[in-house]
Amino acid sequence: MAKRDYYDILGVGKGASMDDIKKAYRKLAIKYHPDKNPGDPSTEEKFKEAAEAYEVLSNEDKRARYDRFGHDGVRGDAGGGMNMDDIFSQFGDIFGSGGSPFESFFGGGRGGNARRMRKGTNLRIKLKLTLEEIADGVEKKLKVKRHVTCGTCNGSGAKSETAIKTCGTCNGSGQIRKVVNTMLGQMVSSSTCPTCNGEGKVITDHCGVCKGEGRVLEEEVITVNIPAGVSEGMQLSMSGKGNVPPRGGVPGDLLILVEEEPHETLTRDGRNVGYDLHISFVDAALGTSVEVPTISGKVKISIPAGTQSGRIFRLKGKGLRDIEGYGTGDQLVYVNIWTPTELSKQERELLEKLRDSKNFAPNPKKGEKSFFDRVKEFFQ
Ligand SMILES: [Zn+2]
Ligand SMILES: [Zn+2]
Repeated sequence: MAKRDYYDILGVGKGASMDDIKKAYRKLAIKYHPDKNPGDPSTEEKFKEAAEAYEVLSNEDKRARYDRFGHDGVRGDAGGGMNMDDIFSQFGDIFGSGGSPFESFFGGGRGGNARRMRKGTNLRIKLKLTLEEIADGVEKKLKVKRHVTCGTCNGSGAKSETAIKTCGTCNGSGQIRKVVNTMLGQMVSSSTCPTCNGEGKVITDHCGVCKGEGRVLEEEVITVNIPAGVSEGMQLSMSGKGNVPPRGGVPGDLLILVEEEPHETLTRDGRNVGYDLHISFVDAALGTSVEVPTISGKVKISIPAGTQSGRIFRLKGKGLRDIEGYGTGDQLVYVNIWTPTELSKQERELLEKLRDSKNFAPNPKKGEKSFFDRVKEFFQ
């Protein structure tokens, strides 16, 4: 089969600039990449053809010889055809230092950068807080077991600097590339070097303290400032307080999951605090004064005579501070009138006398808000 003209293959003119050639090839390489066209041998041929044309035209010397002598001028260079490995090694040139745009195809990463960017794992802990702690914010000292850099070897994992050698299997790249013949033609696969686990280095003599891991497990006491107003399920993050990865890198984060301990008498609803007050119907009818608990201590409130069940008293500013700083909530005191469940003979007689009393007959005043209206009013 007669060889096609390299300029025709890339679709550029004889006077095309280096930039034009690169652009044209980049387009074709993406279009005909075997990863994008599985099971199509004809696109693979085009892919190889384009790579060959680019190999010659991107080199000043080869291009000059090709211009002068045609295909004969470059026979033995790329003229004899290229294998897939050669083609993929061009990609660093045309797609920049990151290598090919088909990272998944190659198994991702090209050694160097990936190794240096390594990040350790995050640590997760749950932290139980009382309503009082949530109200004021609190400083907590947390005991955390985390991997920290080994102080003996400074994280290298080696006994001495001379014990660190470049990996002979991958020549320090951390990756092994293999050309595999498949039914679809040749494919290049790239995998992590099994000798060095992708680190590009091997240690011949391990640090005695960390056994070559470069990190040790240590119990550390970490001081955390919990802001006022946090709530159940909130996650606080302390950057860099997680695990250091093996043999150096950026430590992960410490993630603190907030759990609210149920309060004995108070309930929380966002910024507001709720309290169920139970009073006798005698106190409700005659009026009284009672002490109610709040997150900042006991508070005396007066119950006016004739207080109905379901009435809500608002203790302004006795709620929780907003975590974003938008003010403070209130405490809402819900009045529940307690109906006696057991009566002595004498009590029964007294009540029987009142049974038909006109004032004891329910008579919701016209225009008085219903219980639901009152609740709505408080939560609007
Ligand atoms: Zn060590
Ligand atoms: Zn290796």
